Amino acid sequence: MTTSARLVLVPLACLVLLASACASADTATDGDSSSSATSATDVEVAALFADGALTADPITVDCTLENGSETTCYQFEVDSLSTAVDSDGPYCPATTSDVGGIWVWDGEDPGLYALDEDFWDLMSAQGYEFADENGDVTIVDPAGGAPSSSTTENSCLQATPDDSYHLQVLIPTTPELLDEATDLSTISQVGLAFDGVTIFGDAPSVGDTGGLPALDACGGHIDPSGYYHWHFGAESIQSNLDAAGANVSCAIEQDNEAAVAFSYDGYVIYGSEEDGAVPTDLDECGGHVSDTEEFGEVYHYHLSTDSPNLPVCRVGASATGNLTSPDGEGISLPNGSGGGNGAPAGGPPAGGQPGRDE
Ligand SMILES: [Zn+2]
Ligand SMILES: [Zn+2]
Repeated sequence: MTTSARLVLVPLACLVLLASACASADTATDGDSSSSATSATDVEVAALFADGALTADPITVDCTLENGSETTCYQFEVDSLSTAVDSDGPYCPATTSDVGGIWVWDGEDPGLYALDEDFWDLMSAQGYEFADENGDVTIVDPAGGAPSSSTTENSCLQATPDDSYHLQVLIPTTPELLDEATDLSTISQVGLAFDGVTIFGDAPSVGDTGGLPALDACGGHIDPSGYYHWHFGAESIQSNLDAAGANVSCAIEQDNEAAVAFSYDGYVIYGSEEDGAVPTDLDECGGHVSDTEEFGEVYHYHLSTDSPNLPVCRVGASATGNLTSPDGEGISLPNGSGGGNGAPAGGPPAGGQPGRDE
């Protein structure tokens, strides 16, 4: 990199890095200049994404943030079912002796469980009825498809995939801090993973809906609108599964230190570890300012070792209209707080909001 180029870069770095010291941004551009994204161009952000994750080249567009700021955002376009990810499940097991995906149970004996015989026994012991006397699990399409032959009071929810449309995501090019962090609890919008899949906070509680919107072993599932989305950072979920004794495996390559996603405020989410250990200086949202391979010394989030393992709040402003469908009509997309498999068991297509844990 030439000296004159760096002189241009440093003021940009001060804008992009916000919370970090601008002086260190200068030294961060030494060495391998290709790893410095302080001059993040559309091309460089595209390189963060997996092959096939984006269906169009990202562009920079004018946007308005939730704090009223008129600024610019990266516009990313992804498929409703990313070709970079296997979204075939399994989700709900057909019978209690099969093994399906996983669930984070928030009732008695809370925790991460594989959807296997032990889990259904636990549910029965707590008064929930997901399977009939033959052991057939009641499986319901939350968008109103035909239910399985078994009908019990509770049901395992499994939506039908729809690969026919795109999602468009806006991410601020320059993060702006909010005065107060935004809580990212039940089905709140978290961000866009670099595999082209959107990320949401906790799926709705069985206690709220009576239905259990099963996740696959990597922590994702199909929304009633047909698109696949994450409720976990998939790249480090295996450590959660192992710690919980859940006897299922996520087929996605695990990397506890990888850059995994953009949060909707423009900060990047990394795996649960840094330099081989869980960082000890994280704030309430799971973030801190520290040196990163991709961006130098910047604020970023880390996945946690909890289940789900996502940041629990967002420090910066998201863009208005941060998640939309350019294909238009007929696609029920979440608004500010929506987005899970939220319909009650056997209920109407998700358009309304499910009950929330307050
Ligand atoms: Zn870090
Ligand atoms: Zn969901």
